[in-house]
Amino acid sequence: MPEGDTIYRTARALNKALAGKVVTAFDTGLAKLASINDDTPVPGRTVLSVEARGKWCLIHFSGDLILVTHMLMSGTWHIYRIGEKWWMPKSRMRAVITCGDMQAVAFNVPIAEFHTARSLERCGQVPKLGPDILAENFTAQTGVEALRGHRLAHPEAEVGVTLLNQRVMAGLGNVYKSEVAFAAGVNPFRAMSTTTERELEIMADTSLKYMKANVLDGSGDGIVTYSGNRRTTHSMNAGDRLWVYGRQGQECRRCGALVQRRLQGEAARPTYWCPECQPWIPSPGQSPEPPVGRQVKLIGSRRRGSC
Ligand SMILES: [Zn+2]
Repeated sequence: MPEGDTIYRTARALNKALAGKVVTAFDTGLAKLASINDDTPVPGRTVLSVEARGKWCLIHFSGDLILVTHMLMSGTWHIYRIGEKWWMPKSRMRAVITCGDMQAVAFNVPIAEFHTARSLERCGQVPKLGPDILAENFTAQTGVEALRGHRLAHPEAEVGVTLLNQRVMAGLGNVYKSEVAFAAGVNPFRAMSTTTERELEIMADTSLKYMKANVLDGSGDGIVTYSGNRRTTHSMNAGDRLWVYGRQGQECRRCGALVQRRLQGEAARPTYWCPECQPWIPSPGQSPEPPVGRQVKLIGSRRRGSC
């Protein structure tokens, strides 16, 4: 049975293979999907993105169409080049999305449905996204309320996991997760229950600032979060402009302590923090000892946690 992080990695692999590409063919063994494809053809649409939400995988197409598949039981997505032999029998195929020479094949998915943004919003089964940080009506206050709500519902949730949880706030990626926690001086492994209102305010505010700066920067992966030192502000190397992300073992730009790295959460995403600027505050259920970064070198196929 696929775990959350398996579904997450599947979505990432599908996104990498398909996003930005035009669908050239769509085949399905499911009558409901076939009839929608007849009425509003999938071929010709662009794959916008693929995301994981809980046990669900969502493939967003241009023109307001979303293919939602449930990944529990033996449901799985494979990616093949055209002509490559499938690893599962054709009888288990439920849907095939072809984009040029790439094919994404869903096998055994117990549920597969097309949705529009609106019908997905009404669908009670698929987890909802939190407020979109880049939406026009999003303010720091919106973010504080979202974080506060999560603190109340899941006091044990770790801050780093919460920042990345798209059902709390939608938009932050793994880089900003670490940078936002650093900006607020919050150790990302602290439980939400230990956070103060002030810390939530700074995290919401910097989330908004970083996301907007990233959009203005235009390149998508351009990251403008470090402005404390003129020497590196204008660096062409994005890594030089980050406070902690990707800097394990290097000196903190603020205090000189060594930046730590550790995989966090069900999806095992790397988290970076400064043990001095982001002190450990245990909740009653947590170890009084601060979390320690593991400087494990990940090689080959074990690089699952890398970004
Ligand atoms: Zn520091």
